[in-house]
Amino acid sequence: MTNKIKYAIGVDLGGTTIKLGIVTNTGRLIKKISVRTEAEKGPKKVIENIISGINELNAKSKYKIDGIGIGCPGVVTPGKGIVENPPNFPGWEKVNIGKIIFQKFKSPVFVDNDANAAAIGELTFGSGKKYKSFIMITLGTGVGGGIVINKKIYHGDFGAAGEIGHISIDYKGPKCNCGSYGCIEAYAGSLYLRERVRTELKKHPESKLWKLINNDLSKVSPRIVQSAAGMGDVYAKSVIDELGSYLGSAFASLCNVLDISVFVIGGGIAGFGKPLFNSIKKTIAGRVMAPIRPRVSVLPAKLKNDAGIKGASALVFHHN
Ligand SMILES: [Zn+2]
Repeated sequence: MTNKIKYAIGVDLGGTTIKLGIVTNTGRLIKKISVRTEAEKGPKKVIENIISGINELNAKSKYKIDGIGIGCPGVVTPGKGIVENPPNFPGWEKVNIGKIIFQKFKSPVFVDNDANAAAIGELTFGSGKKYKSFIMITLGTGVGGGIVINKKIYHGDFGAAGEIGHISIDYKGPKCNCGSYGCIEAYAGSLYLRERVRTELKKHPESKLWKLINNDLSKVSPRIVQSAAGMGDVYAKSVIDELGSYLGSAFASLCNVLDISVFVIGGGIAGFGKPLFNSIKKTIAGRVMAPIRPRVSVLPAKLKNDAGIKGASALVFHHN
């Protein structure tokens, strides 16, 4: 009976939407719903919305749930389920989501930072499965990171570890939201990328991007840059190549510090695909210490859509 299918509820708490689903221990998403977060109404309302989402899922299914996993922004106290100051959640400070949800449903609850949950998702169901240690990075509006060491998330002393997006690669670089300068996020976050392409495009009247955006700079998006690069546009290709070298130089430093040589990359911007991955690999190879060089792997994340729900559910299956 070792192959018995188990079920968990995964909750992906985002700034505008809460996505919830029932996921099997083989990583299959059986049912999903989404509800509004209403973060602006404060933590009490957000938690009410999580609870009503879970109730809705339970009402629609007959599965026996092994637990509830919650991935959320902000710093999460390891093993305690306390979520501290998630960005864009006013009035929050410290909230013990784990305890509140457990008291309501009497089912084991596992809470972690969303980027850590994404890494656990890849470890349990995805590209990280066959590795003992790897670093996961999610390239979205922001840049999230999770460090897996010996099949466990490295949380640091207070749960704040893994913020790879806030490694500074240029101490005189652009100001980042976190207060520092030249952070990876200030180069690779999709907001920054859009802004930068809008500014630079004016110097590239020959770029195919102009046609793709109908001469309307507000239409610049990572997806459009990807299309132009696919059509052989030199400027679009240079944007992706440069992004790869920013990421690659941070990854090389991480390799040198941690001797972890596997990187799993998810999020919308990972859709740049091979050109991005090749540029990252090339940069790492040129900067990492020689003994590590042959072991470096840069892989796309396997969980694409619903990665948030699946990662959150993996917190239940993977806990130890
Ligand atoms: Zn930063």
